[in-house]
Amino acid sequence: MKKAVQVILGVVALVAIMVSTGCNKQTSATQHPFRQSTEELSSVADKTIEITVICDNYEHVAGLEASWGFACMVDTPQENILFDTGGDGAILLNNMEKLGISPQDIDAVVISHDHWDHTGGLRVFLESNSQLPVYVVTAFSRGTKQLIETAGGQLVEVSQPQEIVPGVFSTGQVPGAPPEQALVVQADEGLVVVTGCAHPGVVNMVKAAMKVCEGKVHLVMGGFHMAQSSAQQIRAVIDQLRELGVQKAAPCHCSGGQTRQLFAEELGEDFIQIGVGSKLKFSCSHNQTESRK
Ligand SMILES: [Zn+2]
Ligand SMILES: [Zn+2]
Repeated sequence: MKKAVQVILGVVALVAIMVSTGCNKQTSATQHPFRQSTEELSSVADKTIEITVICDNYEHVAGLEASWGFACMVDTPQENILFDTGGDGAILLNNMEKLGISPQDIDAVVISHDHWDHTGGLRVFLESNSQLPVYVVTAFSRGTKQLIETAGGQLVEVSQPQEIVPGVFSTGQVPGAPPEQALVVQADEGLVVVTGCAHPGVVNMVKAAMKVCEGKVHLVMGGFHMAQSSAQQIRAVIDQLRELGVQKAAPCHCSGGQTRQLFAEELGEDFIQIGVGSKLKFSCSHNQTESRK
């Protein structure tokens, strides 16, 4: 009898171990960025995504300081991401305050590429809130990586596409001079691609975004790095974006005045003029489509 009980207990223990191992695997599978269940995400009450431009060299809202650089906040129902930090920490924090954004509201920082006009506010920001992950691409300098670690931030080096928060992805490191990552936001309207400077080329950044998530590109916004481009080159880029199915564009920062003018002429209503303080709203009731990876 005793032996039989022992055997039964042994089998029960073994099954328990197997089940718990399976659960762990399942848990890590559901936590896998690209396998988030739709029900899990749609249970959140707030169904909007808002992108606020915090730093930009183009003026838009009076009272905010425009200066060379780019930073924006992506406010999702789950979490808030600070994408880039502009060129100056004091300007970043002052503009955030005027926009009613506290550094404590930010859950993750993503830096597009290792240029001062995108990393400039990082040190000062981390002095206010360092209890968060900071996503950089692997090509970042040792100095910038050390700055993040010394400040107490959690350094995350990105090479492949990955989810940052539910519904918001990094394209992964796109080769260029320097290499760069863009954000891909899943909205009901389609994908919203946010670029820092788009040094690899805005068309390449959009192509990288389309490999990460299914669906059409609703909007590409941010720096397009085309201030030195000729009208012919700019028109060629507009054509390529159209061929990729991009609906709207909001070039700012290093895009160049002529670029904004030609996009406005070519795209008409689908050109969105943005600058510091701009807020763009999207819905996200059923946006969490399966990603391609
Ligand atoms: Zn820049
Ligand atoms: Zn740059």
